[in-house]
Amino acid sequence: MNQLNSQSNNGNIPALECRNVSQTFMIKSGIFAEKQPLKAVEGVNLSVNRGEVIAIVGESGCGKTTLAKMLLGLLPPTTGEILLDGIPINSVSILDIARKVQPVFQDPYSSLNPRKTIKSIISLPLKVHNIGTEIEQKNRVEEYMRLVGLPNRLIHSYPNQLSGGQRQRVAIARALIMEPKIIVCDEPTSALDVSVQAHILNLLQDLRKKLNLTYAFISHDLAVVEHLADWVAVMYLGRLIEFGKATDVFRDPKHPYTQALLESVLTPDASLGLPEITLGRGLPNPLSPPSGCYFHPRCPKSSTECSEKSPLLKKEKNYSIECHLYN
Ligand code: SF4
Repeated sequence: MNQLNSQSNNGNIPALECRNVSQTFMIKSGIFAEKQPLKAVEGVNLSVNRGEVIAIVGESGCGKTTLAKMLLGLLPPTTGEILLDGIPINSVSILDIARKVQPVFQDPYSSLNPRKTIKSIISLPLKVHNIGTEIEQKNRVEEYMRLVGLPNRLIHSYPNQLSGGQRQRVAIARALIMEPKIIVCDEPTSALDVSVQAHILNLLQDLRKKLNLTYAFISHDLAVVEHLADWVAVMYLGRLIEFGKATDVFRDPKHPYTQALLESVLTPDASLGLPEITLGRGLPNPLSPPSGCYFHPRCPKSSTECSEKSPLLKKEKNYSIECHLYN
């Protein structure tokens, strides 16, 4: 079981907390095959305080998007519990979840209805939850357009008339209009040009300070989260294998997988993924994960023990790791 905690010393209730959260899907690997359990997320514990940013990083298929869906209340955990401000998410109404936590997704184009104007898109959460009159909703849309740096003249435009960066600003305004405390950002810049990415990251950083927002920032790219995150949680095949303060993890990554992720950042094109030279084969099939440490078939430091025994969690204040090298 991973045990992570980013609570600061003030003893406040965390804004967001996962307690031993797992998600198992029953899936078929072929037409005539029996259903098998696929553990998408396994025993994740983490918490983040108000105003902090936790980056959840790992390759595609590591479980981070499934975790994001659970944080948003879109998917109940198979086991374990998610708490918003100390209250179990499954005891909160949909409206209250929407008021506390909102998503910003990867591809702003596919997450915006192409047939709706920017005003309709941003005001949709207010309409769904029946908040305010038509005039009040319009005023609020204009206010949030200003907040995210969108000119008012775009209010009657359609998504295809906007640039990628502008579309992501619309998605951010829509997420903020319910005044949530927590934003779950699932790869919010990966569909954007590199030049635009920095603007969106700066905007998210500014909004965080202005509105005291908490972010759970999901990314496959450590370079993206380096300047934004207070905490980094690294996932591999559904498990959190290293967690710590962002400054510590970036300065001195200890887990061989985190080291490889950081090396991939140093390759000319980080989107190429992990450097094959270091790690060899790709992510194992999660339907039949490797014995012992899940990372051992790819790990350059693997030993016999690694293929036979799962590493225990080593936990210190504000830091944890699952690796035999540190047990
Ligand atoms: Fe590598 Fe072994 Fe550590 Fe797993 S436990 S990361 S295989 S050294």
